[in-house]
Amino acid sequence: MGIAENYKEIRQRIEEACKRVSRDTKDVELIAVSKTRPVSEIEIARSLSMESFGENRVNELRKKMEEISVSWHFIGHLQTNKVKYIVGKVALIHSLDSIRLAEEISRCSMKKSLVSDVLIEVNVAEEESKFGIRTNELESFIREVSQYEGLRIRGLMTVAPYTENGEENRPYFRELKKIMVDLNNKNIDNINMNVLSMGMTGDYEVAIEEGATLIRIGTGIFGSRIVD
Ligand SMILES: *Cc1c(COP(=O)(O)O)cnc(C)c1O
Repeated sequence: MGIAENYKEIRQRIEEACKRVSRDTKDVELIAVSKTRPVSEIEIARSLSMESFGENRVNELRKKMEEISVSWHFIGHLQTNKVKYIVGKVALIHSLDSIRLAEEISRCSMKKSLVSDVLIEVNVAEEESKFGIRTNELESFIREVSQYEGLRIRGLMTVAPYTENGEENRPYFRELKKIMVDLNNKNIDNINMNVLSMGMTGDYEVAIEEGATLIRIGTGIFGSRIVD
């Protein structure tokens, strides 16, 4: 199947998932994850009215940014020495996972007189191999990061365990939503989150049912990646 057919099917499934839980499809934004895919395919996706694209490597993103202008989302692990290349150029950084990184995003943003929107990556499933703040450390992390100028915490993101049965990840999505609501209720200065980035090709329908506002879909749109 091609990108157009894939996209049509995904739109339909998004609509059905929203309907099941009485959500408005306008409240769920699709991020087309274009990592490893050529700019020509991004152009096709854009012509089908996809607007936001996710990349997980700074070097690859920088190359693509020179060739095509779309709304970019940075979704991968971000090294502090590469922050300067993306601040001011991406709509959202999904993967804040350390104080050092927050410091650098803050420093680069203030230097450019702007405020960067970021999500905190949470390792809800507590997988050893994954980046992200553990849930038991999240509140103190947020309290510390909330002090920084030049960045605005918009919400939370998680990469759930790989699965072909999205149902298996429902408890993690539900927990992340609950964590966000609980943190908002603590009335921490500067913290009022409403973005939940969760759900990928294998589990986005479940994520939508549990409150995702951003879903990140790669293979479901572009087909399987040759290199990853
Ligand atoms: C690759 C990637 C995705 C997309 O994964 P698919 O299973 O291909 O949809 C989503 N989020 C992150 C952080 C990724 O690295």
